[in-house]
Amino acid sequence: MKLRVLADRCTGHGRCYDLAPELFDEDEDGHCRLLVPVVSGDLEAKARVAAQNCPEEAIVVSD
Ligand code: SF4
Repeated sequence: MKLRVLADRCTGHGRCYDLAPELFDEDEDGHCRLLVPVVSGDLEAKARVAAQNCPEEAIVVSD
């Protein structure tokens, strides 16, 4: 599974790095910093949850 974060949509709610700190971190402005662009195994479910919970729909998941 591949992950992307659309930087122009991210407004820094922090849901992603709260829900999946293995995959996302915050930058100095509180915006999302993607740690793992290619995900497998148990982390796939976490990636989907993070994407579903991003209020700005800034996280794109593709298989
Ligand atoms: S949840 Fe969405 S808007 Fe919030 S920091 Fe993560 S990617 Fe950005």
